Amino acid sequence: MLKYPSSIIDLINSFEMLPGVGKKTAERYAFYVLDYMRVEDVEEFANNLKVVKNSIKQCVLCGNLSETDICPICQDETRDKSVVLVVENARDVLSIEKLNEYNGVYHVLGGSISFSKGITANNLNIDSLINKVKNKEVKEIILATNATLEGETTARYIKELLSSYEDIKISRIAYGLPVGGDLLYADQMTLLKALEGRQEYK
Ligand SMILES: [Zn+2]
Repeated sequence: MLKYPSSIIDLINSFEMLPGVGKKTAERYAFYVLDYMRVEDVEEFANNLKVVKNSIKQCVLCGNLSETDICPICQDETRDKSVVLVVENARDVLSIEKLNEYNGVYHVLGGSISFSKGITANNLNIDSLINKVKNKEVKEIILATNATLEGETTARYIKELLSSYEDIKISRIAYGLPVGGDLLYADQMTLLKALEGRQEYK
């Protein structure tokens, strides 16, 4: 059986690591690189992969992705640090930022509690959120985890942890977000309504 040279096979295998890319598509990408991409573009592509992996870290304050220790949002003097919107992933921050409506800061959990995937509260960035509340830096917490079982479980867990702090307002975005809804896939209008229509979380 005819086989591709090993470097082509390696490239195909690399593309196959990407979500949604099967063998056929990976082959198509590999041959696109070989036949159509200029050497400079390939080098830039490879370099971008390396740089993003090496230079992006988590903001020490909120867990958002950042090239600096403290992300631009946490550094921004005009943002209200007393309002913290809690999301599962850094990509959710982007979804909310696109609305241009929210002027508080964020707290990125890095996932949600999932019994099926074995993810517990200990695996998530929750302690530093509680510390912010303990230090009285926060007046309002908006729980914006996804409208899934895992997102609900996580919101409920955080709410319980914060139940002894009386002078803090806890709300949950809910309105308009379909059950099973992932923040990432909600359209902007739905997300805006969900944020505006947040309700006290009981
Ligand atoms: Zn930050």
